[in-house]
Amino acid sequence: MRMVLLGAPGAGKGTQASVIADQNGVAHVASGDLFRKHLGEGTDLGKLAKTFMDKGDLVPDDVTVKMVLERIAEPDAAGGYVLDGFPRTGAQAEALDAALVSAGQVLDIAPLIEVDTEELVRRLAGRWICRVCQIPYHEITAPPKQTGVCDKDGGELYQRDDDKAEVVRARLQTYQALTAPLIDYYEGQSKLVRVNGQQDVEKVTADLLAAVSASAVS
Ligand code: ADP
Ligand code: ADP
Repeated sequence: MRMVLLGAPGAGKGTQASVIADQNGVAHVASGDLFRKHLGEGTDLGKLAKTFMDKGDLVPDDVTVKMVLERIAEPDAAGGYVLDGFPRTGAQAEALDAALVSAGQVLDIAPLIEVDTEELVRRLAGRWICRVCQIPYHEITAPPKQTGVCDKDGGELYQRDDDKAEVVRARLQTYQALTAPLIDYYEGQSKLVRVNGQQDVEKVTADLLAAVSASAVS
């Protein structure tokens, strides 16, 4: 299975991608997680990415495309992947399509998780991330069993710098201007499926999995 998971910041892409990837035995590839890993390791790419991430801007296409295409060429992604946060521009989507063609592969589906802006802001304001595995929690809707500690690996939970209200506003504008046009792009390829993201996490997962099954049949 090869999936591009679309949705605004806070829509639930990371939450859903990790469950769907686990259930289907494919890789969860999140461009934001890859940038944060570089940041944590203090690499040049991490330092470059930070200057854009801090402002709610996108990291330039050339470095982003190279990083993600290298990641999906790794052995654990050979059997498929769920892409979370990539592509975010038309140029990234075209680069992914070109890579798929040269590998003789096809993208199966591009679900869009739909959530209204007010709810996105609420979700990002209460989001906590595991320092080890980057799984997201929410202080009200998806709290960990023990405050500040990841259920899966005991990692410390922290709030992202770019989840501050002023950066969130910029990220939502960036999404509307540069990423929302991908909805038409994937609709044009008959890959787009709209899923209501304002339901319980489990119900959103069930709707996504139903969309995957339906696309496999058609
Ligand atoms: P979100 O939770 O908003 O979906 P991500 O963790 O996916 O956030 O991304 C955080 C930041 O990393 C983005 O605001 C952007 O600066 C950078 N980033 C992530 N993915 C991409 C991408 N595909 N292209 C450019 N920049 C990206
Ligand atoms: P994205 O990767 O699209 O930015 P996340 O998966 O990180 O989104 O989710 C954003 C925040 O919303 C997190 O705090 C997460 O726990 C919470 N969240 C995710 N899905 C739901 C849902 N269906 N209902 C309520 N809260 C959710």
